[in-house]
Amino acid sequence: MIGIFGGTFDPVHYGHIKPALHVKQVLNLSQLRFIPNRVPPHREEPWLPVEQRLKLLQCALKDYPGIVIDERELKREGPSYMVDTLKSLKHDFVGESLCLIIGMDAFSGISQWHQWRSIFKYCHLVVTTRPGYEQTNIAEQMNIDDYRFLADKITTHAKTLSASENGKILLQSVPQLDISSTQIRHLFNSGLDPGQWMPEAACLQLMRYKTDDN
Ligand code: ATP
Repeated sequence: MIGIFGGTFDPVHYGHIKPALHVKQVLNLSQLRFIPNRVPPHREEPWLPVEQRLKLLQCALKDYPGIVIDERELKREGPSYMVDTLKSLKHDFVGESLCLIIGMDAFSGISQWHQWRSIFKYCHLVVTTRPGYEQTNIAEQMNIDDYRFLADKITTHAKTLSASENGKILLQSVPQLDISSTQIRHLFNSGLDPGQWMPEAACLQLMRYKTDDN
């Protein structure tokens, strides 16, 4: 099974890396692919240009050989829809089962994703815990049909995923890091050091970019 972890990484932080590595270990994933998006469909223009987001990922992940940076969304025109990314991964990794790892915050908005129900034809979903986001709030944010569609697929047993190639949703607890890229941007813009929240090489590179801007 291959783990897929998409994001804007604006910038990357330990709240991306540590939960994803935990899932890799629990599910014994053969590899973990971090996929930065070029044009995030559900949010405004990122703080950092795409080349800088990618460079920071490269700096951050150089000491994590178990994580591959996958640039396919950066090379594709138009919005970075996950369904298109999964189709392309299926094409490249024939016969492999894919596990798309997302935080509980992203899961609560999944019914807004482009062709979201089709996603389950291509992968399992692994939904990780994230401080401040509870599963119990999800039902309130979705219409009942969408919620039922998802609820039918949910399991809390990791072994269930290996019984089928796709279509399950695993709720997985992971190390809790109360951090977001938004908080890092705020720290940085207030002149504070976000160093404890991201790998040192990425933090130093970010400082270089921001010093060059001024
Ligand atoms: P922003 O604050 O800019 O919205 P973010 O920190 O949420 O950014 P993204 O790049 O938007 O980071 O998120 C990519 C993925 O990482 C999403 O699935 C999100 O749920 C997950 N994620 C981000 N931070 C954490 C965290 N602290 N714990 C668990 N999952 C996280």
